Amino acid sequence: MAAPLCRFCGNKIKKRTRDVYFNCEKFHSGFGERRTERPVTRDDAQKFFNEKIIASKFDDDIEGRCIYRVTLWDGETYLDKHFCKDGCAEDFGRMMAEYKPDISTKTYFEKLAEQESKLK
Ligand SMILES: [Zn+2]
Repeated sequence: MAAPLCRFCGNKIKKRTRDVYFNCEKFHSGFGERRTERPVTRDDAQKFFNEKIIASKFDDDIEGRCIYRVTLWDGETYLDKHFCKDGCAEDFGRMMAEYKPDISTKTYFEKLAEQESKLK
């Protein structure tokens, strides 16, 4: 499935991924699960996960080259259904309010009716 595009700016919406760090000797900081294994190939690392590895980072330690981080994706989940970032959702909301004033929430219409009834 192709990545959904942001309804405001048209950019691709990013995949929802998670990072997992392996026991490659050098210190690597970052947020994510840590594992004790020390895979040396992407195929070795893939065996630990159901999700697909979409990126892997290698480094060298005293035993040689190893993978210190993989990025996993479930193959279907994106960060959002409609927008690439909150700012785009906000701009889209302002645009809709300006050009589609008939589209609002039920609460808005109820409060508007209440306000108008007080003015009569
Ligand atoms: Zn956007």
